[in-house]
Amino acid sequence: MVRSLVYLLLLVPLYGITQKTGGYTPMSQQEWFGNYQHYMAESEKLKEVKNADQHAELGQWAWEHGLEDEAWEQWLEAIKYDKNHTSSYTAMGYKKTNGSWQRPGNVNEEWVQQVKQSGRAFTYTFAFADDVEPEFFEEFSWRVRRLNWFIWHLTEGQMYLEKIKVVDKSTDGRFVIEKGRLYQTLLSGGGAVCYNSGQEDWYVKSGGRCYMRILCHEFFHGIFGFPDERHGCICLMQGGLYGIKTPDLKLCDKATHRESTVTPTSCWEMAMQRFPDMKHTGESHGRAPEVEIEIVNN
Ligand SMILES: [Zn+2]
Ligand SMILES: [Zn+2]
Repeated sequence: MVRSLVYLLLLVPLYGITQKTGGYTPMSQQEWFGNYQHYMAESEKLKEVKNADQHAELGQWAWEHGLEDEAWEQWLEAIKYDKNHTSSYTAMGYKKTNGSWQRPGNVNEEWVQQVKQSGRAFTYTFAFADDVEPEFFEEFSWRVRRLNWFIWHLTEGQMYLEKIKVVDKSTDGRFVIEKGRLYQTLLSGGGAVCYNSGQEDWYVKSGGRCYMRILCHEFFHGIFGFPDERHGCICLMQGGLYGIKTPDLKLCDKATHRESTVTPTSCWEMAMQRFPDMKHTGESHGRAPEVEIEIVNN
């Protein structure tokens, strides 16, 4: 049986999480959507504007108004026009070290090797059915990097993407972006779905501009077999957490999980059942290792 677990950001009811929960205050769906519309209008105005500061400013606005991927879109646009745009790099979490922009902190190589030997360093293919332009590949590479950071952060440094192959004119991949969905944004039906959740052969179908937080959510469906949470966990597996930034999110554990018949077990408990050598200690284990990205432009 194919189990399709759909993460519909806009349609998941906000059971009990519209109120302040555990220090988090999600914004209302209505407020978020208003912000989205405002962003769309402003970004349209900036389309032909080749001024880094203006794009960075809109990026900052988006970031503060619950629009993470849109913020990145603008920061990346800014560094197109100014290769050394400090406020954009800083906003993206980079620091200038020895003349180049890098993620802060160090990679704990020894730890990373242990994670790899435990079978939790992954190699996947993202297959785009359509013909992809070099510029889109470039944009997508940033998405893959962010996805890797989310995975590393949420698993407390116990999983990462080692290598990602991005290939066009193909549907042979763990993540498939079907024909005609290349430029689809989330709200134009460009979300993602995980099939065969929790099984060896799990795979994801997605739009080309699906939010990375959602792809991370789908990856966790696949790799751990987590169900969707709809009962107020402040967790990546709970949909509709408008305005809560992914770097502030954690997977729920025994203490924070809100139980229901569909979700009797917290994410961390399920994760450790599936991967018994994973531990939930709250430690971070340094910066995420760099994901190797191979682009195959057919
Ligand atoms: Zn959870
Ligand atoms: Zn939970």
